[in-house]
Amino acid sequence: MNSQDIRATFLKFFEDKKHSIVPSAPMVLKDDPTLMFVNAGMAPFKEYFLGNSEPKNNRITDSQKCLRVSGKHNDLEEVGYDTYHHTLFEMLGNWSFGDYFKKEAIAWAWELLTEVYKIDKDILYVTVFEGSDDDDNLKMDTEAYDIWKQYISEDRILKGNKKDNFWEMGEQGPCGPCSEIHVDIRSAEEKAKVDGKTLVNEDHPHVVEIWNLVFMQYNRKANGTLEGLPNKHIDTGMGFERLCMVLQNVRSNYDTDVFTPIIREIEAITGKDYDVDEKVDIAIRVISDHVRAVAFSIADGQLPSNTGAGYVIRRILRRAVRYGFTFLDKKEPFIYRLVNVLTEKMGAAFPELKAQKQLIENVIKEEEASFLRTLDQGLAILDRIVDNATDKQVSGSKVFELKDTYGFPEDLTDLILREKGFSYNKGEFNKRLKEQQGRGREASELKSDDWTDLIEDEDQEFIGYDQLEAKVKITKYRKVVSKKDGEMYQLVFNLTPFYAEGGGQVGDKGYIQAGNGDVFYIVDTKKENNIIIHLTKELPRDVNQVFIAKVDAKQRYRTECNHTATHLLHQALREVLGEHVEQKGSAVHSKYLRFDFSHFSKLTVEELRDVENFVNSRIESKLPLQEGRNVPMEKAIEEGAMALFGEKYGDAVRTVRFGQSIELCGGTHVDNTADIWHFKIVSEGAVASGIRRIEAITNDAVKSYYHENNRSFFEMKDMLNNAQEPVKALQNLQDENTGLKKQIEQLLKDKAKNIKGELKNEITEINGVNFLAKQLDLDPSGIKDLCFELGSQFDNLYLLFGAENDGKAILSCYVSKSLVETKSLNAGTIVRELGKHIHGGGGGQPFFATAGGKHPEGIVNALEAAKGYIS
Ligand code: ATP
Ligand code: MG
Repeated sequence: MNSQDIRATFLKFFEDKKHSIVPSAPMVLKDDPTLMFVNAGMAPFKEYFLGNSEPKNNRITDSQKCLRVSGKHNDLEEVGYDTYHHTLFEMLGNWSFGDYFKKEAIAWAWELLTEVYKIDKDILYVTVFEGSDDDDNLKMDTEAYDIWKQYISEDRILKGNKKDNFWEMGEQGPCGPCSEIHVDIRSAEEKAKVDGKTLVNEDHPHVVEIWNLVFMQYNRKANGTLEGLPNKHIDTGMGFERLCMVLQNVRSNYDTDVFTPIIREIEAITGKDYDVDEKVDIAIRVISDHVRAVAFSIADGQLPSNTGAGYVIRRILRRAVRYGFTFLDKKEPFIYRLVNVLTEKMGAAFPELKAQKQLIENVIKEEEASFLRTLDQGLAILDRIVDNATDKQVSGSKVFELKDTYGFPEDLTDLILREKGFSYNKGEFNKRLKEQQGRGREASELKSDDWTDLIEDEDQEFIGYDQLEAKVKITKYRKVVSKKDGEMYQLVFNLTPFYAEGGGQVGDKGYIQAGNGDVFYIVDTKKENNIIIHLTKELPRDVNQVFIAKVDAKQRYRTECNHTATHLLHQALREVLGEHVEQKGSAVHSKYLRFDFSHFSKLTVEELRDVENFVNSRIESKLPLQEGRNVPMEKAIEEGAMALFGEKYGDAVRTVRFGQSIELCGGTHVDNTADIWHFKIVSEGAVASGIRRIEAITNDAVKSYYHENNRSFFEMKDMLNNAQEPVKALQNLQDENTGLKKQIEQLLKDKAKNIKGELKNEITEINGVNFLAKQLDLDPSGIKDLCFELGSQFDNLYLLFGAENDGKAILSCYVSKSLVETKSLNAGTIVRELGKHIHGGGGGQPFFATAGGKHPEGIVNALEAAKGYIS
């Protein structure tokens, strides 16, 4: 069965069991502060497990893109070395949200594997949780054990510990025991030698876990204790690539049709064969894996960058480049050339790849090229460090500097060092890193208490499209502590006019007012797993009363001007530059807006003017906001709204239309484009290869901008003696300046000529050497020219000139080549020695050298000592 059929069969099987098939969510998470990337199939469904919202169907099935390269699940170091861990992989899952539980989950898993996929029962093992005395006296999962007994002989049911068989979402939240299904795909011979049972969960490449069935039945509270969940859930995850390995009868994920086309392409490009030399094999596996992770990430809108999720992606790509560079001898970009076969193979299941192929190739190619440049430099430095090392440990500071200055990731350094039998001082490295990051990461780390529920099961309603003020009640609250902000409180209301940061738009600020007039400021509003959270520094004493909640209207209005302008800008760019323009990110603040989009070249002055004019014409047309709430997704698309890659949309969406501009958008907008007053682009530049960024302002900010420009204009005019035509006056000044510069140059030349004439007469012969030592009033380059000019006129010449420049002393020494040979005179040695008189040092070549020092008073002595070298 090919991989496409294997995936389709899984989804179809669960669809027949009344599950809704949903597409994979984007890999980059937007409203979950605890996770950067989706690292398990359940991550996009957290809001359902937490009870924050309800799924349309309580049975769902999907194939979710997962990335395990940071945080709690990080498999990056394994990838390439083993044959069954990837950075990016697909997790096939079936989900029950408070519906079926263990009995069905186990029965269906067994039916699918043994009857549909027809996997031989005798190669399967399953595990159940053995219990744990030191964690709330957790009992063994006998329920699962008894169910498994009906399907598989008891000697194939193994008991597992908390690490392998108790699954937790994070420090807090839903959790429960799990049952894993393992396969033993070793040969009969190998099986006869070692009992498969002893190899389960022991990192054997041919006895591997393929599926994990998680039975969520507890909630882990902030203090570490467990409580039973009112609704029990099923969360399963099967590694798609591992399943393909089993069903296609091969012994490595890389020998399945998911990877072989990419590997064949790498062979063709590099001329290296797979499966010959282990080091080359590792490199080929690394590259074939990493190109997928990077391509999918770019398709989901996460470009490589210097911080956060973007940096993780950049590091993955750099790891691939390094392996190609070292083991496949590829010194020029080539990984981008694999995107073609990847999209051919996966484009049907993941249309986002196909649609953005060109952009993905551009970005990867540019990243490769720039890293190859620094790689060369970094490797040379690393070689030197190793050569000069006195023992087999390299200082952590050096490794840090490589990272800091050359962008040479420490995992690469570590790898190279290990290959050479070296290690480095990790403690020292981490110390330097911490120092640099300062309050960085730790500062953003959040410790949160459990929620205190005041009103149970109250749904939260956002009313901020229509109202900026409302009477609200707190439904729950908790304290959170971070180094950056200290102690804060998160409040959830039954209804709220506050817009939570999202879709690029900043969160609302404002306040809530208690009955006695006390005011509590809301400093930010955020969304977390689909609930709106209001941040405040202080908790009202009486939390059970009714508050008046008020959004800061002025800030909201300015933000709305910028948000609407962002839509018009998007439309303008597609109109002026072409349909290839796609939104790649936006930030809508009250003071300005930022818009990133795909486009291949810098915008010309005319294009920028056209874009600006387009937006302003829409503002002048006074277009009213036409809003559609709860529009079925298909209908919105039909009307012309564009879905953005990397965004998660529900079945019903909100549409925002101004004239011909129509977008899927949850943000807040002005009622009429006329409110924006005016739109002005303030900057345009590149963010990455093929991605441009425009920053612009609207409304009040434009007024200040013009005021400020006007002010500098009058200041300038003033400086030009109130010239009637300041541009012309400025031009005159510049012309005059150019003329003066030319005159000075000529004067300096004449001066040097005169000096040369005088000096010629002062040169005296001592012991067959033409010699002069003298202090001059010339700059260093003038002196150098002078030396060489005299040198072309006199044989056997030895000169030492001193000069004072900005309080510093400079010595310049010239020695004819003939003297260097016959008299062993050496300008380099001479300035080094005489440099002591001016408290400095220097060097150069035997025929010309200079020294600089801090003691101009010593020049006289140096000049006097010069004669000593020939007399
Ligand atoms: P392992 O012990 O093999 O690393 P795991 O315990 O980390 O697996 P889970 O977190 O339970 O795995 O994930 C569910 C399934 O996803 C696994 O059974 C496996 O098939 C697959 N899987 C997990 N990590 C990876 C990975 N890095 N690459 C490919 N598949 C993976
Ligand atoms: Mg793992």
